[in-house]
Amino acid sequence: MEKLQQLYEGKAKKVYATEDPELLIVSYKDDATAFNGVKRGTIQGKGVINNRMSNRLMQRLEQAGIPTHYVRELSERDTLVKKVEIVPLEVIVRNLSAGSFSKRYGVEEGIRFAEPTVEFSYKNDALGDPLINTDSVLALGLATRADLDQIRRYALEVNRELSAFWKSCGVTLVDFKLEFGRLPDGSIVLADEISPDTCRLWDSDTGEKLDKDRFRRDLGGVEDAYQEVMRRLEAHDKN
Ligand code: 5GP
Repeated sequence: MEKLQQLYEGKAKKVYATEDPELLIVSYKDDATAFNGVKRGTIQGKGVINNRMSNRLMQRLEQAGIPTHYVRELSERDTLVKKVEIVPLEVIVRNLSAGSFSKRYGVEEGIRFAEPTVEFSYKNDALGDPLINTDSVLALGLATRADLDQIRRYALEVNRELSAFWKSCGVTLVDFKLEFGRLPDGSIVLADEISPDTCRLWDSDTGEKLDKDRFRRDLGGVEDAYQEVMRRLEAHDKN
């Protein structure tokens, strides 16, 4: 499958058409941004790691019965995916307090919740991806109630699968962001990526941050952290 015209360039990925109107090629870049594009940089080798990691995790989720857009890895940075109409919501699942949750509610990071939380943000760069509740999603016509129920069920299933998987790699899945899309038949599938760009991953023993917070917060060792989580994932898959 060959790349035809570039349809879109985002902060971390480019998207290309293919000869099949139902399939696209996603190409992962090393570019990194944070705080809605205010902070910019490069994380050497990130595109290769995120491509491979996201594909492995999507395959794992498919095996667990969660439909995804993943079709086939084409190269180090390129993956064939099903074309979807993205639901303009960021779906955030949290197991421990961190990031904007800690800031919003004035609580320290690292408190484990009795139950995971699911939040929605309206995917809109100009507005800074504001938090949105179910009624406002319906009022704006961003998704139907049935879509939202399905998305919430999938998000919690993804959390169960990935929390258990990362735990067996010695990593705590603190929180993550998912995006969903609609296939031409109207069904909802998991889209976008799952990587250290979109998840908070902490070493289970030391609490060391192994994700994009190292870039966001200028903690150093960004490349090493991405390599370390990839190494653990591959070591797990070999056993
Ligand atoms: P927070 O709301 O605490 O900033 O982020 C919660 C989780 O969602 C974190 O794992 C973070 O990486 C992810 N996340 C939230 N918004 C975005 C976003 O716009 N882009 C990316 N890549 N991840 C996000």
